[in-house]
Amino acid sequence: MPSSVGHGLAALSAGWALAGVAVARRARLIQAALLVAIGAAPDLDLLWGRHSRETHSMGAAILVASVAAWQRWPVASTRWRIWLAVCAAWLTHPVLDALALDTSVPLGITAFWPWSHEYYQTGLSVFGPISRRYWLDNFWSMNLASIGKELILLGPVTAGVWWKKRSQRAMEDTGALHGSL
Ligand SMILES: [Zn+2]
Repeated sequence: MPSSVGHGLAALSAGWALAGVAVARRARLIQAALLVAIGAAPDLDLLWGRHSRETHSMGAAILVASVAAWQRWPVASTRWRIWLAVCAAWLTHPVLDALALDTSVPLGITAFWPWSHEYYQTGLSVFGPISRRYWLDNFWSMNLASIGKELILLGPVTAGVWWKKRSQRAMEDTGALHGSL
């Protein structure tokens, strides 16, 4: 299962791609912080001992996105865009988990909860495992190697989406300037 770094980057990329253009600089910071938090949030299930279950599913993504749209979380300007961005950002979490080697039982995630309680995993290990067994010798070396891999694989994607949004904003600003002349 990837680290919060990988989950944050993936959620940021998906959320940014679907949120449309945010306006003020302050609003952009809040949007980014929220998207990163949404990407990492499914792992809060470790706190109540139901890891990789309900929160790691399509059902949870739909629920959280619906609450976000209803409460108008500051992720996008319209309710529909908020729903899309939050749903996609949340979904990146189970997708990434399914693409990483799972070393702790139960293996996989209940991706299709509440429609199915079965655990799914792709068997692929695109991302490295993250260990929570801090007392073992390889804790740091293994986790740092996995985080490095996440940065190499996901960093360019996030940077690309950010760059595209930046140029879109610049184009809209120019358009608005011409419109006001
Ligand atoms: Zn997870």
